[in-house]
Amino acid sequence: MPLVSMTEMLIKARKGRYAVGAFNILDYNSIKAVVETADELQSPVIVQTSEKTVLFWGFKPIITWINELSSRTAVPVAIHLDHCKDLSIIKNCIDAGWSSVMIDASSKPLEENIALSQEVVKMAKPFGISVEAELGEIGGVEDDISIDEENAHLAGVKQAKIFLEKVKVDCFAPAIGTAHGIYKGEPKIAFDRLKEISQLSDTPLALHGGTGLSEDIFKKCISLGCSKINISTQLKYAFIDGFLNYYQSKPTEYNPLTVLKAQYISLKQAVAENILLFGSNMKAK
Ligand SMILES: [Zn+2]
Repeated sequence: MPLVSMTEMLIKARKGRYAVGAFNILDYNSIKAVVETADELQSPVIVQTSEKTVLFWGFKPIITWINELSSRTAVPVAIHLDHCKDLSIIKNCIDAGWSSVMIDASSKPLEENIALSQEVVKMAKPFGISVEAELGEIGGVEDDISIDEENAHLAGVKQAKIFLEKVKVDCFAPAIGTAHGIYKGEPKIAFDRLKEISQLSDTPLALHGGTGLSEDIFKKCISLGCSKINISTQLKYAFIDGFLNYYQSKPTEYNPLTVLKAQYISLKQAVAENILLFGSNMKAK
């Protein structure tokens, strides 16, 4: 089916107390692994692109791949631009056919974050494109942006209330203590903060930094209103390891297609594991 925005799938997820996985892709093989796994498990899915990946390939190739793969399945597929601070890239994604975008103005003061996020809502809404925005600063490394522990800060409840009243986002990403990349030690999730923010509105919440969280943490976050869970780092590992493990097991074979196939299988396993964990399987209808 044609690409859809995240709006409806996330409203349904929040009501149904499950979460839709947002998987960061790297190329055609990884999009194929994400969409085909979602199809097999009858799950809605969000194919997520980092700004870096978009600039690496260009807008047109990515949208062509995703349209082609989405047309082969009946499960809802959204293509979402992850953390973006640059309005011209957001505009280009909207023009190219992205069905969802994220404006990340979380490093700016509240008023400026609100103004920039409102501007993106104005750009996207006329085309039925969903918008995600962030408040507070999520720690760790995403693309080339590194937020160390001292600078990462949680979203404030009062600020979140003002933000949600002023910006009509389809998905809200409050920083609640998760981090991008690999966790060093136990992640400290501010469940109380998440609960308070969740009670402010029905807006589906996004959980960033999903890689490495335990099943219990996922379940608790989902029960508290997280309807979109981002998985990026785990797929980076599956992408490289899938390729490398096969090559190391048959170092003299030199058949590129069998290596790509091994990489595809490794990615599929990672995606399937998360879909089942988030409970979005059989929720495509
Ligand atoms: Zn993120």
